[in-house]
Amino acid sequence: MTKHIKIGILALQGAFAEHAAMLNRLGVQHFEIRQRRDLETDFDGLILPGGESTVMIKLLHELDLYEPIMQKIREGFPVLGTCAGLLLLAKQIHGGKPCFASMDITARRNAYGRQLGSFFAYEQFAGAKTVPMTFIRAPYIEEVGKDVAILASVDGKIAAARQDCQLVTAFHPELSDDTTVHSYFLEMIR
Ligand code: GLN
Repeated sequence: MTKHIKIGILALQGAFAEHAAMLNRLGVQHFEIRQRRDLETDFDGLILPGGESTVMIKLLHELDLYEPIMQKIREGFPVLGTCAGLLLLAKQIHGGKPCFASMDITARRNAYGRQLGSFFAYEQFAGAKTVPMTFIRAPYIEEVGKDVAILASVDGKIAAARQDCQLVTAFHPELSDDTTVHSYFLEMIR
């Protein structure tokens, strides 16, 4: 029998409940990470949700979660970062400060300005299906290192990428009914 996968969702702020709902639909076990002792749970993958990256960075430090999570990610623990979560993983950021800086990408924060705070697109993801993409004060990826694969682009701007076990999207896959991105992440873990 295959082992059941369990996912930890960083639940300090932002759209963590929507990721939990998505995992429920996929029948995948999950739990919330809110404090250091939550990391003692045995789990297989981590989701860093959208929200406000500056607030999350502050809370990660205040709650003593920064070091242990950084350690895990640097050791190759599978992680999905969406929107603000992408910013937490990016090595370089225009308009913001790096956090875990584990993924070789340069992101531009609040990249679409006030005019286009939120928008919606349908684009191909990972060379396969077309998926709905909701962008909310989103970043985009300006540059990727040589070990990074580009998985989606919208209007010529990189919207999803992968480096080894790190997967990021500038959009919010948890805000649609489409399970493609989460399924891709679970496949990556398996
Ligand atoms: N603009 C937010 C930030 O800088 C990200 C927005 C989002 O996660 N929807 O963290």
